[in-house]
Amino acid sequence: MDTTSATAPPAALRGRTALVTGAASGIGRACAEAFAAAGARVYVVDVAAAPAEELAGRIGGVAVVADLSDPQAVEALPDDADIVVNNAGLQHVAPLHEFPTERFALIQRVMVEAPFRIIRRTLPHMYGNEWGRIVNISSVHGLRASAFKSAYVTAKHGLEGLSKTAALEGAPHGVTSNCINPGYVRTALVERQVAAQALAHGIREDEVVEQIMLDRTAVKRLIEPDEVAQLALWLCSPSASYITGASLPVDGGWTAH
Ligand code: NAD
Repeated sequence: MDTTSATAPPAALRGRTALVTGAASGIGRACAEAFAAAGARVYVVDVAAAPAEELAGRIGGVAVVADLSDPQAVEALPDDADIVVNNAGLQHVAPLHEFPTERFALIQRVMVEAPFRIIRRTLPHMYGNEWGRIVNISSVHGLRASAFKSAYVTAKHGLEGLSKTAALEGAPHGVTSNCINPGYVRTALVERQVAAQALAHGIREDEVVEQIMLDRTAVKRLIEPDEVAQLALWLCSPSASYITGASLPVDGGWTAH
């Protein structure tokens, strides 16, 4: 018996499985919630066990606790996803000549090598179904550099190359691959930075956002995580099937400069 209400919108992703990394917080959590609301079964992948399990329970998904800096843990992830959202990431800010080498290597493992391994492992399933969607959460820093963020900028530029290559190889098999390139998103990470900068500069938190973070942005506000998630969801819709190998800024005009 079909229990769907006559007035409810169709669940666009019913029958699809989505794997979202870094899904316990921020953009990843918003993506997991949006994909689940659209009917997908979601693998909530994160190193943070408690919030991953809480979210998976709330959205009817499956928590997968894994440290993506460990290649063996990545190789043990589920390989039957129709949709992959490569989102997990971290930042480290330091001048290049003092940048800790182990921190640089860690950031490449989590933000480039893990996406490579995840795409590599899930493509056979997607090819088998002649349908797949890869959404890579890049950044404005996949397109532009900022001083003191060498590891992050390097990793995001690497992710851009991986995404475009997956687009070329996936096209004959119905698989698209794209990057989303946000400016500053209102996540716990950024909110902590706002508070710290307000203290350091002796200015109000709204002044930090406007004068420091949004200096190069035409739209003077932070992006909400759900705005990024809705674009990720749209990239999995039929109307986006011709969009592949693209990098889509959600940056309030930052890259218009
Ligand atoms: P966040 O810190 O809120 O969430 C990141 C999640 O990744 C956390 O749940 C964390 O536990 C997880 N994670 C980190 N290292 C991991 C590891 N080794 N294994 C498994 N999980 C791990 O951050 P966010 O702001 O939501 O960022 C998500 C993505 O969006 C990142 O790739 C980030 O570079 C990108 N991004 C963020 C912004 C922003 O302003 N917040 C802007 C552009 C791009």
